[in-house]
Amino acid sequence: MTFANGRPYLAIPGPSVMPDAVLAAMHRASPNIYEGDLMAMVEGMVPDLKAVARTDGHVAIYISNGHGAWEAALSNTMAEGETVLSLVTGRFGHGWAEMADGLGIAVEKLDFGLKDPIDLDKLRDALKADDARRYKAVLMTHVDTATSRRNDVAAVRKVLDEVGHDALLMVDCIASLACDRYEMDAWGADVTVAGSQKGLMVPPGLGFVFFNDRAAEVRRGMRRVSRYWDWTARANPDFFYQFFGGTAPTHHLFGLRAALDMIHAEGLEAVWTRHAGLAAAIWAACEQWGADGPLRLNIADASARSHAVTAASLGAPLASQLRGWVSEKAGVVLGIGLGMAEPNDPAWHGFFRFGHMGHVNAHMILGLLGTVEAGLTALDIPHGSGALEAAAAELARRA
Ligand SMILES: *Cc1c(COP(=O)(O)O)cnc(C)c1O
Repeated sequence: MTFANGRPYLAIPGPSVMPDAVLAAMHRASPNIYEGDLMAMVEGMVPDLKAVARTDGHVAIYISNGHGAWEAALSNTMAEGETVLSLVTGRFGHGWAEMADGLGIAVEKLDFGLKDPIDLDKLRDALKADDARRYKAVLMTHVDTATSRRNDVAAVRKVLDEVGHDALLMVDCIASLACDRYEMDAWGADVTVAGSQKGLMVPPGLGFVFFNDRAAEVRRGMRRVSRYWDWTARANPDFFYQFFGGTAPTHHLFGLRAALDMIHAEGLEAVWTRHAGLAAAIWAACEQWGADGPLRLNIADASARSHAVTAASLGAPLASQLRGWVSEKAGVVLGIGLGMAEPNDPAWHGFFRFGHMGHVNAHMILGLLGTVEAGLTALDIPHGSGALEAAAAELARRA
């Protein structure tokens, strides 16, 4: 039999759980796009969006997913034949670099593997060795969603400054915006990319590129930028349609307005603290399970883990079996392992991820963990006891 009938729970790192308020805001007739409420709403939304990225800079909004935001950021700053340095701590670092390669940009990578942090000494050496100042930008992921490693943006900025290298610092915050603390201006990021379907709790379909004046200056120096990706008019439109380079993504915008209202009503600091506490509950459970069985967290150092996604392993084929069980029997979908093994490699079935970003609270996370406990038990996967108690205690202590 199955216990799956009831509200489904997509516990993957995006798309995330959509709040009823977001869905309700989207459920309406097509609005007037020539005048009236929609225009006022979009203009009012821009400062609220920038507040989430903690920036006084600019924001361009695209009708795209995260890949589009990646391409937009590159298209405004990098021409064919120019060079980026990409700091890779998982699959998504490779992904942004691949987008650059597709645009004819020369990519140099520092690949730190699937578990380790960005090695600042290696970064320093690479920047120092770049006498000719070929690197026009340094790309990094704040959180790599595949490995669940969270990287130190301010530390990378510091190295750029120490070396006196003027490359733009471009940061992928798609998995971390409105989940983990992120301070674009204070940490010295020049460009930040994000998407709607993770911490922002809106369906996939909006991409955001935040940029400062220094990046705007680089854009002005470009000989040519694709009309669609050009951020200039989007960030500073004379006419409403220029916000979106065409027809506005009307319903996504209503959803986003509702989501921003929720974030600012809770308070961004409180949103970050909630994510930190829920993540700690998941890790506490995982540590108990792992004390007497094969479950392991990918990132050993808790201070470098994402608060929005947790990558774990069970060994093949147990992770796929667990994912199958919780989906069929309990209505919960866990994330697949990404970039940890090739999809055609049997080892691929040893990895999974918990998504815990956006509209999640204590009872959802305890339900998620209880479901995993049931799955481990049903499948006879060895696991330590006390996981749910440990998670509950973590939440009780923090609340
Ligand atoms: C989800 C994600 C992306 C890709 O976003 P899409 O909307 O799937 O294109 C890129 N980078 C990170 C860090 C992500 O989490």
